[in-house]
Amino acid sequence: MLASQPLSASAPDQSLSTTPPANPQEVLQSVFGYPDFRGRQREVIDTLVAGGDAVVLFPTGAGKSLCYQIPALCRPGIGIVISPLIALMKDQVGALTGAGVEAAALNSSLSAEEQDAVREKARSGALKLLYVTPERLATEGFRRFLDTLKIALFAIDEAHCVSQWGHDFRPEYLSLTALRERYPGVPRVALTATADPHTREDIIARLQLGEAEVFSTSFDRPNIRYEIVERTNQRQQLLDFLARHKDESGIVYCLSRNKVEDIAEWLNAKGVRALPYHAGLPAEVRAANQDAFLLEEGLCLVATVAFGMGIDKPDVRFVAHLDLPSSVEAYYQETGRAGRDGAPSEAWMAYGMADMVQRRRMIAEGDAPEEIKRAENSKLNSLLGICETSGCRRQALLAHFGEIYPKPCGNCDTCLSPVETWDGTEAAQKFMSAVYRTDQRFGTGHIVDVLLGKETDKITRFGHDKLSVYGIGQEHSQKVWQSVARQLVAAGLVDVDHANFGALILTEDARAVFRGEKAVPLRKDRAAASLKKTRGERSAQLADELDPEDRQLFERLRRLRTQIARENEVPPYVVFPDATLAGIAKARPGTYTALLEVSGVGQSKLEKYGREFIEVVEAFEAGV
Ligand code: ADP
Ligand code: ZN
Repeated sequence: MLASQPLSASAPDQSLSTTPPANPQEVLQSVFGYPDFRGRQREVIDTLVAGGDAVVLFPTGAGKSLCYQIPALCRPGIGIVISPLIALMKDQVGALTGAGVEAAALNSSLSAEEQDAVREKARSGALKLLYVTPERLATEGFRRFLDTLKIALFAIDEAHCVSQWGHDFRPEYLSLTALRERYPGVPRVALTATADPHTREDIIARLQLGEAEVFSTSFDRPNIRYEIVERTNQRQQLLDFLARHKDESGIVYCLSRNKVEDIAEWLNAKGVRALPYHAGLPAEVRAANQDAFLLEEGLCLVATVAFGMGIDKPDVRFVAHLDLPSSVEAYYQETGRAGRDGAPSEAWMAYGMADMVQRRRMIAEGDAPEEIKRAENSKLNSLLGICETSGCRRQALLAHFGEIYPKPCGNCDTCLSPVETWDGTEAAQKFMSAVYRTDQRFGTGHIVDVLLGKETDKITRFGHDKLSVYGIGQEHSQKVWQSVARQLVAAGLVDVDHANFGALILTEDARAVFRGEKAVPLRKDRAAASLKKTRGERSAQLADELDPEDRQLFERLRRLRTQIARENEVPPYVVFPDATLAGIAKARPGTYTALLEVSGVGQSKLEKYGREFIEVVEAFEAGV
């Protein structure tokens, strides 16, 4: 069909007919400034360049974009990228333009004239990548326009949107099915970071990618350090955590809008620049805060989970949770917003018994059918299991997604400062007896009071000081008992009854513990959440990887980057990612050739910013 188009003869690939086709390795180096492909990128690129179809299932931050951008640059014609959100397109086009690639987006945020200009540029063959929404692609008018172009490939980003299994289903994605018949022979690639088998099958079936090669990699995010702490004083704990990330950007997730507002205000009072983000804010405030987050450095965005979808900021250095997410999947997705650029990042969470109770209540009070509620409860249990594990967090997380991580990771809190365990069988028996003797009608606070033999009004009122379990737990502190309670819930021995105001109840499994048939190993809570860091161990902060002098230079380079970013009204990472600044600080290039050697410096950026960065290096070396 394309061959019969009159325009295709006069169009885009003229320059390519005189010069040999670009080679992926060269494009990687000269355009993107990276020395090597990562993981399976090269295989995907080779498949597409050769005209084959591909399904790419890589985790966030693995570098999926290059998998279609480079083939689009290496093949004759224009690459059409289908992307669900205008914000995502803007980020991508910004980054590509920054690297000197002719890219544009067509969407409703452009005026009619701007759209005409983009179309004209595409027709002239000057454009190499065009981003569109699935809605637009579904229109006959747009397809007729496409018929006039030579198409290098179709890239279907966030391909899980075609599946009803996930929560991001977009009906318009279903119309992408037609691409195969309408543009036979044009390679198609579907990409997503969602890899569960249902979604994968849907993608392949609905997008007619049965013959495509499927590329998947481990879902591990090695640069993210996981830490989950017991909540004692969440504000102070948060502040201590943020002190590790001075001048860096990150997200603090809270469950409610009120809490978002409170925490943001409090952080500002404490000298941490923070902005709120939640669905209850006026649209323009939300947009302004989101823009600030993208454009500024060292900004803390305090948000409900409404924030995140459609945000492609690669240099989020930390994600902090002040409330428990709803499931392991949600936790992984939210923490996954950290460190897309591959540089060291942290995922930190403070949680306590109140979270469990609150989450259980949310499920109980929801209007989902019983079986869905049961599924939600079991999802929550899996997350509690990860919170209370004494083993490696990463192993537990990946195991949840069916992946075996061969050994403890060395980059999570339990690996870095191993938790001690103790035989909690007797403690469990005592705790559960107290639950039973008080008729399974009370919450943790009261049960612990009974065990400790306290004299509260409630205890006297109910006559609980007459029970055999009264005061039988004085060998442990209140804190230890609270920890026991959390772990018993996480282990599925005790449950929270929402029909009964959050009272603790015993489960079927509790029986075996009473009978002495089942031991209950428990973890000791750490006194304080301080992760020891020993030499040679992988650091969680980028600046830590630099020695003090390089770090000073890094700070100066960062200031220059901020200034350039402001002048050009682009996010700092579009100028250079953090890892590139660190690379410059270490290598101290004095020439263009030396600067080009640094990972992340491509030809276009070298020309644009090279001189200024070299000047900063030289001034630093000269001691000025
Ligand atoms: P994904 O879409 O898979 O989440 P991106 O395509 O946004 O990931 O890439 C994440 C980051 O990794 C980007 O900053 C990108 O420039 C960088 N990156 C991609 N490929 C490479 C590579 N081969 N070498 C170094 N950095 C890379
Ligand atoms: Zn670990």
